[in-house]
Amino acid sequence: MAKTPTKTRRKRRSPTLGPEKTAQLYAALAEDRPAPQTELDYHNPFTLVVAVALSAQATDVGVNKATKKLFEIADTPKKMLALGEEGVAGHIKTIGLWRNKAKNVIALSQMLIDEFDGEVPQTREELTRLPGVGRKTANVVLNEAFGHETIAVDTHIFRVSNRTGLAPGKTPDEVEEQLERVTPPEFKKGAHHWLILHGRYVCVARKPKCWRCVISDICRFKDKTPDPARKESDLGPKG
Ligand code: SF4
Repeated sequence: MAKTPTKTRRKRRSPTLGPEKTAQLYAALAEDRPAPQTELDYHNPFTLVVAVALSAQATDVGVNKATKKLFEIADTPKKMLALGEEGVAGHIKTIGLWRNKAKNVIALSQMLIDEFDGEVPQTREELTRLPGVGRKTANVVLNEAFGHETIAVDTHIFRVSNRTGLAPGKTPDEVEEQLERVTPPEFKKGAHHWLILHGRYVCVARKPKCWRCVISDICRFKDKTPDPARKESDLGPKG
């Protein structure tokens, strides 16, 4: 009896917007924010690594408040080490998980001195070896400090990518993989900022501001929020 051929299982991807609409979506976001930047304050690649590592489960505004004085005193791994774990902790107590984060800041400063001559490395593999630095932090640093075309999927990018249909995925890794696949080369460098800022200020978690969204005609989200300024009577008779 002939053997039934075994099917190779291929990972099924959810349908995306397609190249034309994807390019339109990015073009609209780029026009809306021509020079997007991170909202975290930093002085150099080292302070950016520290700021991004501190921003896990904290707002950028909260991190900026805490790091203002800290970075004035310690903007290099050597100065951070001189401050010690207690010294760092004293500056960041207003941020969630501060105890662990202070420990990581000191450990990563030590590793930078011991293994990287005090410089921040420029590859994801090396960056993710630093204590407290995961793939997301590494991607942000590579994009912001070194101009790499990386996209770090945080909660905002995850939401926007799924709602719009730009890069649907069940996990941040899946979304990142889709984004890397569908994002046209000319938008790769800015994609991270455009999507994050759009998610933070327009496509917010609870009630997205669809009525003032520059990509609402492309977005596939079914439950778009109507313009609150529009009265019921403006919408015409029901039925
Ligand atoms: S239309 Fe609404 S759901 Fe879609 S991206 Fe804009 S704000 Fe988000």
